[in-house]
Amino acid sequence: MDCIFCKIIAGEIPSKKVYEDDDVVAFYDIHPEAPVHVLVVPKHHVEGIQDLSEESYRVLKPVHQAIQKVAKMTGIDKTGYRVIANCGPGAGQTVLHLHYHVLGGKDLGVKLL
Ligand code: 5GP
Ligand code: ZN
Repeated sequence: MDCIFCKIIAGEIPSKKVYEDDDVVAFYDIHPEAPVHVLVVPKHHVEGIQDLSEESYRVLKPVHQAIQKVAKMTGIDKTGYRVIANCGPGAGQTVLHLHYHVLGGKDLGVKLL
């Protein structure tokens, strides 16, 4: 499948991994928008929140557990962090494999992104 994140999950494209378990991988974004910018990605390919089904909802629990772990591991759990999922190309989603941006390490203010 021609999916960058599936290739990262398969180890075909290198990434700077922060966390991995049976269901989830988390790695640093190649174009960081904050001092900590990690992508938390289920190993199961689904295009995004817009594409979740009864079968794929099960990935949400491990994904959210991984977000908590990544926040602790990168030291942003106490100061606060932002989690963003772009849903569809019209919202700026460029990789059509469900992923959550976890951003922190600076004052994120109240702006939308
Ligand atoms: P989206 O725009 O789909 O919400 O987010 C996709 C993110 O993936 C972007 O922030 C982009 O910088 C990141 N990205 C795209 N290709 C790669 C890659 O090969 N490696 C890593 N680590 N991040 C990538
Ligand atoms: Zn994929």
